[in-house]
Amino acid sequence: PPEQPEPDPNKKTLVILGTGWGSVSLLKKLDTENYNVVVVSPRNYFLFTPLLPSCTTGTIEHRSIMEPIRNFLRHKKTAVKFYEAEATKIDYAKKVVYINDDSEIKGDISSTEVPFDMLVVGVGAENATFGIPGVREHGLFLKEVGDAQAIRKRIMDCCETATFKDQHPDEVRRLLHMVVVGGGPTGVEFAGELQDFFNSDLKKWIPDIRENFHVTLVEALPNVLPMFSKQLIDYTEKTFKEETITIRTKTMVKNVTDKYIEAESTGPDGKKQLERIPYGLLVWATGNALRPVVKDLMSQIPAQKDSRRGLAVNEYLVVKGTENVWAVGDCAVANYAPTAQVAAQEGAWLARMFNQMAKTEQINRSLAELSDKQEKAPNKEARDKVFEEIKDLQKRLNRIKVIGPFEYTHNGSLAYIGSEKAVADISWLSGNFATGGTITYFFWRSAYLSMCFSTRNRILVLMDWIKAKTFGRDVSRE
Ligand code: FAD
Ligand code: NAD
Repeated sequence: PPEQPEPDPNKKTLVILGTGWGSVSLLKKLDTENYNVVVVSPRNYFLFTPLLPSCTTGTIEHRSIMEPIRNFLRHKKTAVKFYEAEATKIDYAKKVVYINDDSEIKGDISSTEVPFDMLVVGVGAENATFGIPGVREHGLFLKEVGDAQAIRKRIMDCCETATFKDQHPDEVRRLLHMVVVGGGPTGVEFAGELQDFFNSDLKKWIPDIRENFHVTLVEALPNVLPMFSKQLIDYTEKTFKEETITIRTKTMVKNVTDKYIEAESTGPDGKKQLERIPYGLLVWATGNALRPVVKDLMSQIPAQKDSRRGLAVNEYLVVKGTENVWAVGDCAVANYAPTAQVAAQEGAWLARMFNQMAKTEQINRSLAELSDKQEKAPNKEARDKVFEEIKDLQKRLNRIKVIGPFEYTHNGSLAYIGSEKAVADISWLSGNFATGGTITYFFWRSAYLSMCFSTRNRILVLMDWIKAKTFGRDVSRE
């Protein structure tokens, strides 16, 4: 691998924040020799989020869906600097990012600043709680590897505690009540995985919990999976019913304590009532919120004043009101849903744009040098020679394809709903294709396998699936 050189003063410094879908797709396609590239992220790996729900039950081991960022960087032609740190503040006017090493081991220096000429913000989003009291203290999220590990541990803890000697039946029911708040794809996929875990493994390993283990999905809107077609929503709700997962729609959680949630539900007569729902495990999946570093950057740019959900970008992914800051993925607002698909396409498009920008700039620089040389040429023969070179360069310049604005191509939505079934809204050619069931499930598996970033990940995921099918999932509580 190339050594880490000092920044080349002749090149612009491109700082990329984050190692998620947006930033890694950009890094993969970026010609790093054109810039001094610096990557800053508190996570030194890429995480394949679509399979994260499977890690909560041990269907897949978390390391199988992680890819070290160093593995992407070491294949680059020119070295890229990586700092494992969080960007705590972006000073737009000073063109500086302040970074802080938030990990356990800290050196004498654990916070510093990184100057940039160009900046790409790909820091993703935080978990939304809407300020509902108790969520952060008592609920578990499902966004990062650590979240999935915490859920896996909590599921087993609840099961073992429920079977503790002389536990009261009400307490047993509470401990085995697994509540998921948020009926978006994260909540639905997790509920499905959890019910699978119970059906295929838990009830065999711990028969005592058979009667009382129960999964409930709570959603404020009238139905789950709002981004899918009506037919697939119905299919999901029917499958959940068969799997005995309870769906509580039109039920909005207002408060969370350590043992129950308080939710306001709307009955068929339109009447609202507040009820207490006891739980052992609470997984909170109500979507995205802005990260503080993004909110702070927005406050420095007048053109971002009216943007609420993230950094408003133009069709070239430039943060509105700036010239040298771009945003990709969940922290950017470009009228697309905050999905991996969008983030990946944005990252890849930005890489092509940066590569092209660098090529164009380099040719323009050479052209300026040549015209200077032409002026100073001692005789006609020398001038003609330079003229030929200029013509060649101009031809090269014309051959560089002008990249149009970013356009998202939607390849469809896909979600696993448990009991070896998946739903898919796929836009092939011109028509839309909605499907659910076991065949879709195999399609889901093969689609995710082919999407996994490296061959290593693909093999690890495949081995995990085989392992879980052959031996059952591991119920040890780590
Ligand atoms: P992320 O992938 O979240 O990456 C953000 C990066 O920024 C991380 O590396 C993080 O460590 C880093 N970071 C955070 N704070 C800072 C900071 N202050 N400074 C520097 N770096 C920072 N989408 C789909 O299209 N299909 C799916 O099947 C799908 N399944 C999903 C399943 C789950 C459980 C979840 C949670 C999401 C799923 N998504 C799916 C959505 C998808 O994961 C996101 O849309 C996608 O990750 C967004 O990419 P991103 O690069 O913006 O952010
Ligand atoms: P989401 O925003 O899609 O869904 C959150 C749900 O929580 C909403 O339906 C909302 O009505 C509900 N909610 C909010 N507050 C509530 C409350 N107090 N009580 C009850 N319900 C409440 O969130 P998500 O599922 O985390 O997904 C985030 C993004 O990631 C989305 O863009 C999604 O498409 C994407 N994603 C995609 C997949 C997939 O394609 N398979 C999987 C996971 C996530």
